[in-house]
Amino acid sequence: MRDFSYLRANSVDAARQAAALPGAMLLAGGTTLIDLAKCDVAEPDSLVDISHLKGLDTIEIDERGAVIGALARMSHVADHAGIKGGFPAVSEALWQAASAQLRNMATVGGNLMQRTRCPYFRDPSNFAACNKREPGSGCSAIGGVTRGHAVLGTSEACIATYPGDLATALVAFDAVVHLGERRVLVDDFFLLPGTTPQKEHAIEPGEMITAIEIPGSAAARRSSYVKVRDRQSYEFAAASAAVGLELEADGRTVRDLRVALGGVATKPWRARTVEEALKGKVLEPEVVRAASLLAVEGAVDHGANHYKIELAPRVVARAILKLGEAA
Ligand code: FAD
Ligand code: SF4
Repeated sequence: MRDFSYLRANSVDAARQAAALPGAMLLAGGTTLIDLAKCDVAEPDSLVDISHLKGLDTIEIDERGAVIGALARMSHVADHAGIKGGFPAVSEALWQAASAQLRNMATVGGNLMQRTRCPYFRDPSNFAACNKREPGSGCSAIGGVTRGHAVLGTSEACIATYPGDLATALVAFDAVVHLGERRVLVDDFFLLPGTTPQKEHAIEPGEMITAIEIPGSAAARRSSYVKVRDRQSYEFAAASAAVGLELEADGRTVRDLRVALGGVATKPWRARTVEEALKGKVLEPEVVRAASLLAVEGAVDHGANHYKIELAPRVVARAILKLGEAA
C-alpha cells in the first residue's frame, strides 16, 4: 500500500470537486476500496471520504417508488419496511450479499461500484496481464481458471463477471442512478467490456452517485431474488435471478414479467427475451422452463464456467415458478 492524502468532504459539491482531480477516489464504507488498495489494484493519490455527508442516507417511499440515498447502508435498505413490501427482490438481494458486518458498513452507492472478483484482476504481483487493470496487457483469465467467469456479455479483451447482487435486482425494475442532476438507467450505467474493459460505468470524473431511484410497479411488489452459490452465505453468486411478476385477474396468466441475471454476465443482465416469451402465457412449469432457456441465448463459455449456461436458466425458472406458486 502506498501513501495517499485523505480529505473528509463536507458537501456533495466539495466531494465532486475533489474527486475530479487525477488520482482521487471516493471512499464510502471502504469495504471494497481498502481491499483493492491493499492488493495494489487501487492506487489512489487521495481519498475523498464521503461517508459523513448529511442527507445521503435516507430512504423515501411514495406511490411512484423508492429513492434510496447513495450512503444508505446495505443492511438498513434490506430491512426497510417499504423496500421489503414494495421491492422484495431488492431486500432479498441485499440480505444475500456479503456478511452481516459488511452489510452494516457498506453503502448502496459503493455496492454498485464494486469491482470484479476475477482473481487475476486482484493479483497484480503474479498476473501482469489484465486488460481491465492495464489496458492492452492481455487477459490472464482466458486460457486460465474460469470457473467464476462470465458467459454473457464477454469480449476478447475481458470475461470478468460483475459480482454485485443489488444491481441485478435494480436492473430488473428499470431503476435509475442519480449522479447529482444527471439520471442514468441502471442498465445503461453498467458498460459491456468490449475493447475497453477498464471503463465499467457511465460515470465521469467529478460525478458521484447521490441516489438510486426504483419505480414502483405490481411486478416489483411481487418479486424475488434467487441466488445459487458454492456455500449458503458469505459468497458471490454462481448464478442468480431477480424476477418480478404481475398476473392477470385469473391468477395464472402473465401480464408483466421482469427477469435479470447475476453472476453469469459482465454486467447486471436483463433477460428481456424471457420476459417477452412469457407475457400473455399461462404459468405452466414446462412453458416456464422452455422460456428460461432464452436467458442464455448467445452465451459463450471458457471451459470451467460452462456449468453456468445450464445453471442460469434453472435459476430463472425456479424464481418465476416460486412467484407463480405464491399467487
Ligand atoms: P467503498 O469500498 O467505499 O467504495 C467502493 C467503490 O465505489 C470505490 O471505487 C469508491 O470510489 C466508489 N464509490 C463509493 N461510493 C460512491 C458514490 N456514492 N459514487 C461514486 N462512487 C462511489 N457484494 C455483493 O453484492 N454480494 C456479495 O455476495 C458480496 N460479498 C462480499 C464478500 C466480501 C468478503 C467482501 C469484502 C465484499 C463483498 N461484497 C459483496 C461487496 C460489498 O457489498 C461491497 O464491498 C460494498 O457494497 C461496497 O460498498 P462501500 O460503501 O464499502 O464502498
Ligand atoms: Fe482482467 Fe478481465 Fe481478464 Fe480478469 S477477465 S484477467 S479482469 S481482463
